[in-house]
Amino acid sequence: VKQDGRNGLRFYAPEMQKHSERALALATALKNAIANNELALVFQPQLDLQHHCLIGAEALLRWRHAEWGVVSPAEFIPLAEQNGLIVSIGWWIIDRVLEQLAALQRAGRAELSIAVNVSAVQLVQPDFVTELQARVAASGVPAGALDLELTESVAMVNPEETGEKIARLSAAGFRISIDDFGTGYSSMSYLKRFSVDKIDKSFIDEVTHNHEDKTIVNAIIHMARNLGMTTIAEGVETEEQRNTLQRKGCDAIQGYWYSRPLPPEEFAAFVAAHR
Ligand code: C2E
Ligand code: CA
Ligand code: CA
Ligand code: CA
Repeated sequence: VKQDGRNGLRFYAPEMQKHSERALALATALKNAIANNELALVFQPQLDLQHHCLIGAEALLRWRHAEWGVVSPAEFIPLAEQNGLIVSIGWWIIDRVLEQLAALQRAGRAELSIAVNVSAVQLVQPDFVTELQARVAASGVPAGALDLELTESVAMVNPEETGEKIARLSAAGFRISIDDFGTGYSSMSYLKRFSVDKIDKSFIDEVTHNHEDKTIVNAIIHMARNLGMTTIAEGVETEEQRNTLQRKGCDAIQGYWYSRPLPPEEFAAFVAAHR
């Protein structure tokens, strides 16, 4: 912090206050977001690189507020995790994804799966597994169509209890992905609990020309394969990145090159056009 005599904090304090005022206002407005119909999901298609076909999508949350416009999930999800709202929002997300999966089944596309981001705060709820199983059973959708994406920070909270929960979810037939592996601090032994490894965009951005990123992506793909896991690279924006990943044996990709995240009607049209 730059010192400026007695008023050293003059230039910084108002900024910080503005920031926390916005956070507080957002957190308050978020309480009514479901009731006010301000939340929506978009679906980002995933492409199988070996068979060149659509395999499913990742559901991503959007919040459109009357005053602030579209608020990024990177900004409001941490707030919803702090005040616990993420639990009810998380169930709302899962119900919408189950509706989308049921629609895909009716359309004769039962081979497609949808990935949903599950916050650690929701996962640690004592009734998470039984509640999830009840909702999935009521929807008529097979558990295998739902892919649960957990970030590695999940492991930091309570490794033993989380590990046991992941084992129960796998036994119940859900696919479990580890999101952003390698960007945090979890141990490699933790990886073997998961069925899918999502390779973070930060490793993909320069995968075609940065030697270190190439080496990291190679190592992730080989390690995942040897552990019997599937790899999905995220944030693939160019054909060159796609080709590099295909050569390295990455199983699937997701990113603007294949498709942006799409609202439900556009996603339905994308599905109809892609076998
Ligand atoms: P994430 O799970 O790593 O999701 C990938 C992010 O990368 C998404 O940002 C997606 O829109 C963006 N993306 C995908 N392809 C490309 C690309 O080719 N180029 C670029 N530049 N970006 C790409 P988004 O939707 O803003 O979400 C940000 C983060 O917010 C997500 O990161 C996830 O951690 C969290 N999030 C989003 N939706 C949910 C949700 O429903 N529940 C929870 N708990 N977290 C969510
Ligand atoms: Ca994700
Ligand atoms: Ca990710
Ligand atoms: Ca990411």
